[in-house]
Amino acid sequence: MAYSIDSLLIHGGQDGDETTGAVNVPIYQTSTYKQDGLGENRGWEYSRTGNPTRAAVEKLIADLEQGQYGLAFASGLAAINTVLSLFKSGDKLVVSDNIYGGTFRILDNVFKNFGITYKIVNTSDQAAVEAAIDDEVKAVYVESPANPLLTVTDIASVSEIAKKHKKLLIVDNTFLTPYLQRPLTMGADIVIHSGTKYLGGHSDTISGFVVVNDKALADRLYYLQNAIGGVLAPWDSFLMIRGIKTLGVRMDRHVANAQKIAEWLEQSGYVSKVYYPGLKSDPGYEVQKKQADGPGAMISFVLDAKYDYQKFFKNLKLVTLAESLGGVESLVCHPASMTHAAIPADIRKSVGIVDELIRLSVGIEGVDDIIADLKQAIEASV
Ligand SMILES: *Cc1c(COP(=O)(O)O)cnc(C)c1O
Repeated sequence: MAYSIDSLLIHGGQDGDETTGAVNVPIYQTSTYKQDGLGENRGWEYSRTGNPTRAAVEKLIADLEQGQYGLAFASGLAAINTVLSLFKSGDKLVVSDNIYGGTFRILDNVFKNFGITYKIVNTSDQAAVEAAIDDEVKAVYVESPANPLLTVTDIASVSEIAKKHKKLLIVDNTFLTPYLQRPLTMGADIVIHSGTKYLGGHSDTISGFVVVNDKALADRLYYLQNAIGGVLAPWDSFLMIRGIKTLGVRMDRHVANAQKIAEWLEQSGYVSKVYYPGLKSDPGYEVQKKQADGPGAMISFVLDAKYDYQKFFKNLKLVTLAESLGGVESLVCHPASMTHAAIPADIRKSVGIVDELIRLSVGIEGVDDIIADLKQAIEASV
């Protein structure tokens, strides 16, 4: 029987401990495993290669994404590093024009040094994606909604283009999680997550995931996971399983709060621009509605020129100024100097990441309290 995602969040990939009946998967805090004789192990040899707690969360994330194979990593960037290691010198990637700053950094300052290059394209424009593809291009790398401008890419359409040209489609699904969007079902080949964000959900664990359907691709990724070694620790694997159990109820509240806050901001008179694919005025609204079960809970906005954004950050009391997103608490950040500082100023400006841009990760606090805090902080920042 195929379970709904609400049930898979609790039981997917694992259902407690066979041996004792413990309802939670034990934390196998071990680096190695006893072998009964030469070449005779019990399925486990060394915890970089495989660990039962990690295997449980890997199976769980695969179930949630409706994929066959899951891999867990020590961070989102360790996951991205491993995926980028599929490519070799001379290969090129077509990449969304607003992506997580750390993804840009590893492409620009690490993989470029090994001869793997990238082209930045507005992937919400399918003609631009198609035009960017040539022989050297081996993959299209998309975030949707993208970070920090929440630009929506039509995943099924870009997947058709990628398939036509025999290129891989890689989707970073961090902002929506499989609760709201399942890119493999729309034709993506590789799904990436920073589990640090909504999946963990409590701002207490750094982790990353990769999910694929193709067996050959999975084998190569498992090989690279073991060869490169950025694996998720047993304790952190347990924390991710624990966090994911409440993903559905948290996301429902995150999204409801974000929708209300985005609508309030738009008519508040305090801002010159709101980016949120749940607003009818947003250019991504229709595609978002078609391909996802909700618009997520990330909002970006530009304060009206009469307000000083530096003062605004200082004036906040409930909402916390911090890197990261996706935790139960509302976090606000300044992309130009924080999450996207690794992107050169000219590229930042050209894609719309202006100095006045503010990114809000809407938490699950009382929504009226969040709105009241934003209001008082803005009003006191003239
Ligand atoms: C945070 C983030 C990453 C990187 O993940 P870490 O867990 O911080 O290494 C990648 N992509 C997106 C969209 C992110 O928000």
